[in-house]
Amino acid sequence: MTISFDFNDDHKLIRESVREWARKEAYEKIIEMDKKQKHDRQLLDQMGELGFLGVSIPEEYGGGGFDYISTGIVSEELEYVDTSLRVAISVHNGLNSMGILQWGNEEQKQKYLKPQAEGKKIATYGLTEPNAGSDVVGLETKAKEDGDYYIINGSKMWISLADVADHFITFAKTDSDKGHRGITAFLLEREFKGLSSGSIKDKLGVRAGNTGFLNYDDVVVPKENILGELGEGFKIAMSCLDNGRFTVAAGALGLAKAARDASVKYANERKSFGKKIGEHQLVQQHIAKMELGIETAEMLILKSGWMKNEGIRNTKETALAKWHATNVAWDAADAAVQIHGGNGFSAEFPVERMLRNSRGARIYEGTDEIQQIMQGQYALGYRVDKPLRMKMPSYKN
Ligand SMILES: Cc1cc2nc3c(=O)[nH]c(=O)nc-3n(C[C@H](O)[C@H](O)[C@H](O)COP(=O)(O)OP(=O)(O)OC[C@H]3O[C@@H](n4cnc5c(N)ncnc54)[C@H](O)[C@@H]3O)c2cc1C
Repeated sequence: MTISFDFNDDHKLIRESVREWARKEAYEKIIEMDKKQKHDRQLLDQMGELGFLGVSIPEEYGGGGFDYISTGIVSEELEYVDTSLRVAISVHNGLNSMGILQWGNEEQKQKYLKPQAEGKKIATYGLTEPNAGSDVVGLETKAKEDGDYYIINGSKMWISLADVADHFITFAKTDSDKGHRGITAFLLEREFKGLSSGSIKDKLGVRAGNTGFLNYDDVVVPKENILGELGEGFKIAMSCLDNGRFTVAAGALGLAKAARDASVKYANERKSFGKKIGEHQLVQQHIAKMELGIETAEMLILKSGWMKNEGIRNTKETALAKWHATNVAWDAADAAVQIHGGNGFSAEFPVERMLRNSRGARIYEGTDEIQQIMQGQYALGYRVDKPLRMKMPSYKN
């Protein structure tokens, strides 16, 4: 086993190109979008043209063919600028495209994955419902068999890009008596009759991004659009989270770095009691804690990315990285507001938006509490991951 803390040339190039676009092209637009609470799909289309929407998807399916750490780097650099950009990567790449890569058949990969990786179609993932979030088995959406089709009825809530996406992975009960074995994953298209969506306004954060709901009113889905096998939806939903959470963790690292950088800059400019505030030890303590969080989060993310590249099951490690990194980001943003004093309370400075944006990641893709339950159960031996029927491809170089 070789352990390296070096990023390879591909990683460096990807970091540079995402950084350049996000900081120079996207930043101003994001600030306007955040203020107006209005999402603009143009930025996603640009991300598609630049190849950000299929970085770790094999070239034969329209992607860049780069390893999983590359997707982490894209997530980190995007969230350095704004969480809404990274959320698009989480749902489009992590939760949807990688789910199809793992569980889809060849026809589904050609029909759905390829245009998604090429950025021609935008995709998302609909699991959460008005009455079921953490408790996935409690979902109420139902799919009823009807000849060569399934008819889906129900609704989804808090879905990122609900009003924007062209393609959806969604989950419905095909057998209400079978618990988690009675859930099936389906691939839906925006054009499917009976599918409608709407947006949620006045969110605490991710205001430049779209978050909404989906209604399924007798949506007719051909059987060939079942992802995986009938009754395999719970496992698919959870394995998609292994990839989504990786992007959330890496994005949170980007936000923590942005909060640290803004704090260092401010602490070197602002003066009190005749010296720079950075020279006060209690301000240094805030920044020291950010450093510790950033370094430890990065290690956990790189370990999880390395395991993905090697094709090793990483549910525990990715969940740990997600739990830690999202709390590091929240703490860093909070400390950054503190360092900025009154100015931290104003949208004139970027740290106010960082604090609002960092809160959601402690809720979505598994709340803090769910992450802690998982880690406790792993340690106590109550939770053991069995091999999955379908594996993600490894990226051993
Ligand atoms: C900005 C944003 C974007 C999102 N995007 C998506 C998306 O694209 N797709 C999608 O499917 N979902 C998405 N979600 C939904 C998100 O995944 C859920 O909100 C989350 O899983 C929690 O579910 P819930 O809101 O129903 O809370 P609940 O499950 O009702 O939980 C409420 C509280 O109870 C706690 N709790 C619940 N069960 C337990 C337990 N057993 N032990 C201890 N505590 C417990 C929770 O931790 C939480 O604190 C998004 C949410 C947000 C805020």
